[in-house]
Amino acid sequence: MIKFLDLKAINNAHRDELITACARVVDSGWYIGGEELRSFEQAFATYCGVRHCVGVANGLDALVLVIRAWKELGHLKDGDEVLVPANTYIASILAISENGLVPLLVEPDPVTFNICPVNAAAAVTQKTRMILPVHLYGRLADMPKIMELARRHRLLVLEDSAQAHGASLDGKKAGSWGDASGFSFYPGKNLGALGDAGAVTTNDETLATTIRALGNYGSHQKYKNIYRGVNSRLDEIQAACLMVKLKYLDTQTEHRKLIAKLYGEEINNPAIVLPAQDSGDDNVWHVYTVLSEHRDALQAHLAEECVQTLIHYPIPPHLQQAYAEFKDQSLPIATRIHNRILSLPIGPTLSFEEARRVVAACNSFQPVMP
Ligand SMILES: *Cc1c(COP(=O)(O)O)cnc(C)c1O
Repeated sequence: MIKFLDLKAINNAHRDELITACARVVDSGWYIGGEELRSFEQAFATYCGVRHCVGVANGLDALVLVIRAWKELGHLKDGDEVLVPANTYIASILAISENGLVPLLVEPDPVTFNICPVNAAAAVTQKTRMILPVHLYGRLADMPKIMELARRHRLLVLEDSAQAHGASLDGKKAGSWGDASGFSFYPGKNLGALGDAGAVTTNDETLATTIRALGNYGSHQKYKNIYRGVNSRLDEIQAACLMVKLKYLDTQTEHRKLIAKLYGEEINNPAIVLPAQDSGDDNVWHVYTVLSEHRDALQAHLAEECVQTLIHYPIPPHLQQAYAEFKDQSLPIATRIHNRILSLPIGPTLSFEEARRVVAACNSFQPVMP
């Protein structure tokens, strides 16, 4: 079986360095909020091209805490509306509703799968205060147009960069475009910890300080609580492991790009629509998602050919039971995408030989016409 993503092999490639890093933390006697975290935050801020990085417990918390901080700072209030792509992972939407704000689900661009700036502009009302573009599957959203829209309507911009570590557009990286950005280091992400971890990046020092306090029980100073905060921390072991893996991220991204190039050049089945190829943008191919009118049959065929695939994601947020209030919204583009998408194996340890087997399995697929 060709695995969708072989996490064991990915971490095994750095086994010695990871164990040395963990041992250093074990021996240090300091497990939360120490040198490892500080070093990683600095390195990741530099990597993204921003002034501040604040480590938090996971990617969802990163998004939740940015919005919470903007509320505490008086930039947002309950009931404010947030533009968000309708075809995102549920976490982007949860971060909005968790804070008492209202998600405005916006149809994506059918080619890039990212939020469509024209549709976003059309959805703006008097109550819209923020836009939350998601760099889905590793491709930057159309940030120049989104920033222009945000300036025109005075919207705050929070990037969901959970799938886009190192992705860039016009030479500017994910996490450096908006007022703030949330990253996830969930093990399966392009930069993955050995457990849960996340971070916020921003150039806004006040925001960074507020998020630090909110993630630390609402306290800037020990035992003095300004906010009713939460406990959301990136621990020393995860920070030490992330520091090891950050060194290899760009090399791994280059490998993902070569796999994507191979798929793009060699999959030639008319029943499979390939994702848009790079046009100067720097897609980091978190996943390689194709479209097919016969998606379920294609997935079954690939499984028979020993190729594991996944669907990102099978049910769009507006059709989830958790958001029953959205179920009557008409979102034909998002719904159509969800019904047709299939993600092929891609990752830093997938060999070209395996990728060619994936290509052959795709090219031998014959949909049974109804
Ligand atoms: C993974 C992911 C998140 C959440 O990250 P966690 O670390 O799992 O909380 C948020 N948004 C998107 C788009 C993601 O892919």
